[in-house]
Amino acid sequence: MNRTNDIRSFTYDELLKVAAEAGARDYTAGQIFGWLHRKKTGCLSQMTNVSKDVRSFLEKNYPIFSVTRREVLVSSIDGTRKYIHSLCDGNVIETVLLRYDYGNTVCISSQAGCRMGCAFCASTIDGLARNLTAGEMAAQVYSVEEDINERVSHVVVMGSGEPLDNYENFTRFVDIITDKRGAGLGGRNITASTCGLADKIRELADRKYALTLALSLHAVTDEKRKQIMPVANKYPLKEVIDACRYYFDTTGRRITLEYSLIAGFNDTDEDVRGLADIASYLSAHVNLIPVNPIKERSFAPTGPKDAVLLKNKLEKNNINVTIRREMGRDISGACGQLRRSFQSKYVGERNA
Ligand code: SAH
Repeated sequence: MNRTNDIRSFTYDELLKVAAEAGARDYTAGQIFGWLHRKKTGCLSQMTNVSKDVRSFLEKNYPIFSVTRREVLVSSIDGTRKYIHSLCDGNVIETVLLRYDYGNTVCISSQAGCRMGCAFCASTIDGLARNLTAGEMAAQVYSVEEDINERVSHVVVMGSGEPLDNYENFTRFVDIITDKRGAGLGGRNITASTCGLADKIRELADRKYALTLALSLHAVTDEKRKQIMPVANKYPLKEVIDACRYYFDTTGRRITLEYSLIAGFNDTDEDVRGLADIASYLSAHVNLIPVNPIKERSFAPTGPKDAVLLKNKLEKNNINVTIRREMGRDISGACGQLRRSFQSKYVGERNA
């Protein structure tokens, strides 16, 4: 199976070449792009205004990689929906719909599994299965829209995986989903979160997307960060912060610093001072997230009262701070846990 020929991962310009290969005219490329990303179908047979010859050419050479809804867990508290999607090779991934006042937000996975090894995260426990194609990232959004029969206005790339470790497919996803001839999602409505691959942060900055970049900081010294995030061995904090500063200076987009509060580990006064310094230097917004305990590891979250005290201390330093509201408490489970519990169920199944 060649993942580079997933037609949902093709940009408009690339589809022009595919149309030419199929012996069709340019407008056929527009029709196909429209079917895939505006009408959001995952089925060639629905493309009724594309000739049968072109469709069978596509079927042979450029299949649509399926993303199939398998399980949906719905929160009765706030309408959060957690999805298990299966891919054409039987891998499974998680996708989450969060309903906010400003619109429907979908949290997508960028990889099946992850190889970053963060100590508190369930997504990385079994390592990386594979990168997702750009089309498989977009299809998660479309599947949710189909399920709820409503539009999705915001996308956060904060599910399983490290988007900048799948840089080519991730940037292709941004190019495709923001294309006005297709889904036309606003670049400002996309947030991507990274554990801090400094060189890729700089590359991304140079693309000058309007998206928001979130850095998973979680500790303010290299010594501490290395204890929970192996990526810190490769990219020292100074390099990561400099890259974030470059991102802000180049794009004008404010960085968000994600900080998972782990009781007694990263919530001392010294940590707060360090966090305030980094946030001031970057003019960044800070998002505090009491760590979501996973059964495989023993991390306890900072209590709600202490989290508020910490927020107040940061605010005294003129830092813009929020404590992340927990969504879907009744269907909770940390990032990647749901996937792990369903992984074995669909393995070996092929539906492409
Ligand atoms: N790889 C990217 C994006 C995926 S994880 C990154 O590292 O940013 C999305 C966010 O959830 C990251 O900030 C990650 O550190 C955080 N996270 C993962 N597991 C968590 C847990 N158990 N509790 C709280 N936050 C967690």
